[in-house]
Amino acid sequence: MQQRTIVVTDSQCLLHRNGQGHPERPERLEAILTMLSDYEHKEQLEYIPARNAHHEELLRVHTAEHIQRINETARQSFTRLDPDTSTNAYSSSAAYKAAGAAVVATLQACAQPGISTFSLGRPPGHHAERDRAMGFCLFNNVAVAAATALSQGMQRVMILDWDLHHGNGTMHTFAKSPDVLFCSLHQSPLYPGSGKIDEIGTGAGAGYSLNVPLPGGCGDDIYVQVLLDAVLPLGLAYKPELILVSAGFDAHERDPIGGMQVTGAGFYHMTRIMTTLALETGAYGPVFVLEGGYDLTGLSEGVRACLLGVADGPDLPARPETDSATRTTLSTAAKLLSPYWGEDLFHNTG
Ligand SMILES: [Zn+2]
Repeated sequence: MQQRTIVVTDSQCLLHRNGQGHPERPERLEAILTMLSDYEHKEQLEYIPARNAHHEELLRVHTAEHIQRINETARQSFTRLDPDTSTNAYSSSAAYKAAGAAVVATLQACAQPGISTFSLGRPPGHHAERDRAMGFCLFNNVAVAAATALSQGMQRVMILDWDLHHGNGTMHTFAKSPDVLFCSLHQSPLYPGSGKIDEIGTGAGAGYSLNVPLPGGCGDDIYVQVLLDAVLPLGLAYKPELILVSAGFDAHERDPIGGMQVTGAGFYHMTRIMTTLALETGAYGPVFVLEGGYDLTGLSEGVRACLLGVADGPDLPARPETDSATRTTLSTAAKLLSPYWGEDLFHNTG
């Protein structure tokens, strides 16, 4: 059992509001913090405060104009940045802390092999593009964290995005680069509409994006099947030096936005698979960076399941009964990626 898990968070992240009735609300982080206060292995948790992301860290992912636009929201009690994304006077400071939390969690993980870290900030990040806020996201926290690791000399960073939605901003940030392997499972069709199976990266990054669009209704078995049969073998072939997880919990069965059926058990098994991948490849992490999740019970259950998965350590669950539609999807992905990784990359997809 792992002795220590690092949690990075900051109370500034509680002050950002999108506006009345918005699902991405401070109560999300409050629910997680309440869960942590009576988590059964809370003596294993080490809290480290977030810091603000530095301007040069943000500039690796975002334009100066976008950063300036976020800075300017601090002067207004309300600014609408996109149809789904608004700010109050505290949102920019929350965004700097959320991105900084992901950086701190990453640097902590990279200093200590075998330690998992959690970045619990908001606003979330994976929809934020280079030059604009989008889909509740201001700065792309996980991308800023990955770019920080690359700036320190890492050459292979893997990001698994298991949020309900496709991580368009993260994929676009690194689409042309083999330095980041981006893998995403997401409900499709659904916002933001990207993440088709043939989006595999471009130029030198061709072959370094895996997108697995899934129909609504998928539960633990299908998520575990995708991780065991595609994400794990691809990760073993890539040999990442660092593993980041864009950990959204809106694929939880209780979520009001999503149509998926994942439970705490699913998040627990996915965590242990990624911990196994880290052990097998010698990668640092996993670093879990909070994304979405809009049912307060489902969200805190999901985070708790990840903490338990980390505490219990590396293990692969029994292979679930294979879903044939998912096998067909993975077979298509394997064919698209085979020029870059060889023919027999994915197991059980033929
Ligand atoms: Zn989401």
